[in-house]
Amino acid sequence: MTFEYAPAPESRSVVDIQPNYGLFIGGEFVEPASNEFFKTINPATEEVLSEVAEAGQADVDAAVQAARKAYHKTWSRMSGKDRAKYIFRIARLIQERSRELAVLETLDNGKPIRESRDVDIPLVAAHFFYHAGWADKLEFAGYGPNPKSLGVAAQVIPWNFPLLMLAWKIAPALACGNTVVLKPAETTPLTALAFADICQQADLPPGVVNIVTGAGESGRMLVEHPDVNKVAFTGSTEVGKAIQRAVAGTNKKLTLELGGKAANIVFDDAPIDQAIEGIVNGIYFNQGHVCCAGSRLLLQESIAEEAIDALKDRLQTLRLGDPMDKNTDIGAINSSMQLAKIEELTKSGEDEGAERWSPTCPIPEKGFWFPPTVFTNVTQAHRIAREEIFGPVLSVLTFRTPEEAVEKANNTPFGLSTGIWTEKGSRILWMANKVRSGIVWANTFNRFDPASPFGGYKESGFGREGGVQGLGAYLTVEDNS
Ligand code: NDP
Repeated sequence: MTFEYAPAPESRSVVDIQPNYGLFIGGEFVEPASNEFFKTINPATEEVLSEVAEAGQADVDAAVQAARKAYHKTWSRMSGKDRAKYIFRIARLIQERSRELAVLETLDNGKPIRESRDVDIPLVAAHFFYHAGWADKLEFAGYGPNPKSLGVAAQVIPWNFPLLMLAWKIAPALACGNTVVLKPAETTPLTALAFADICQQADLPPGVVNIVTGAGESGRMLVEHPDVNKVAFTGSTEVGKAIQRAVAGTNKKLTLELGGKAANIVFDDAPIDQAIEGIVNGIYFNQGHVCCAGSRLLLQESIAEEAIDALKDRLQTLRLGDPMDKNTDIGAINSSMQLAKIEELTKSGEDEGAERWSPTCPIPEKGFWFPPTVFTNVTQAHRIAREEIFGPVLSVLTFRTPEEAVEKANNTPFGLSTGIWTEKGSRILWMANKVRSGIVWANTFNRFDPASPFGGYKESGFGREGGVQGLGAYLTVEDNS
């Protein structure tokens, strides 16, 4: 039985969006030397939210120079204890301004307010709190008695978790004594600019954090800049490969967090209702715009029919629509380009012979939308089983034995995450050792914690973010081998 809910819209009046934004360089918002601006829109309505500066070469040079100056003059000379005070202050300001940040994220990205309010922003604050705690304890992190910062970090992030990806990048970099220049994604720059405002409010020394907005070209200029010491990138495997080529032969330290095609494996002894919730969370959370999304569902053959029926029943209850409504489960697709990519790949699924199903749900007239979709009769050769769709689309495959499940889970160029659903602890441990992925969730999915390292194998990239392991990406690491 489904219940009708009255609309419960979050208020837009808690945010104050400027008609245009400059670049945040040396602690100030400045006009771009490029004199170029681009529009950022609300993907749920196609309304223009603001015009944002597009950084050119002179702007990127100025931002790197500001970061270099701040590194030498203040940040690298400051004690860990003093750096921690600033990072704690930033964390507290994020908490204080959490409602505003959640609304801004939802407007610019299209994700449901329930998710930005309950998942993204609390995790953002948690990342700054966690890393503030490390700033004066780095000698106990296992990287030698006196680990040193690297210098200026060039950081490029995607649009799926705009402020959270910023936190994953900036919090460890600052805790370890580096200064940063960060480029947010073209379609979601607004929360990064709000973060710049928070840096000012926290009295962070000028130049420690610089935000340059722009498209891919601005990102390329930043990662290829000769005066950066570290490059941290999250995004597509294709761009990650280009960055790896650009950085090859330089002294820059590199971490890449790229795409995924995770298997969510359900055994016949799994608690089925819990598993269904885990499957839904695994692929429909954030419209499936999640690198570690459980986009391949591997069901043990004996329960496949029952599980697919239960899944379809559950999907009928999801509400798609206004992301600002607190009842909404599925928000808007982030851009028309991403929607076109999802449409192209789902069409290939049908063309290649898989069976497509979606619940009946009305699609709003304006904006970019895609209904939650399930493909059955999928083979491992289908594009929808091999390529990252990055949308609310699930491909269902089956298996008979644990060995077959492992083989199918590993039959992918990616290696980011895996979900295992079974009541047998021994089987979880056996599977966790066999699947080639950086993260393994047991009887749950999409759980994140700043203390837990996140990262991939194979084409999902290398390096870890979060936890003690993540600190190593921003420190000179002694080779003890
Ligand atoms: P991209 O990899 O193109 O973008 C990620 C970031 O890199 C953005 O800030 C982008 O800028 C920037 N960028 C683009 N080209 C370059 C370059 N040559 N050098 C440096 N930086 C660059 O991802 P898209 O946004 O285009 O998404 C494409 C696909 O990537 C998605 O469909 C999805 O499959 C995958 N993806 C995976 C993510 C993950 O978390 N693993 C996250 C996002 C996407 P701009 O946005 O302005 O172009």
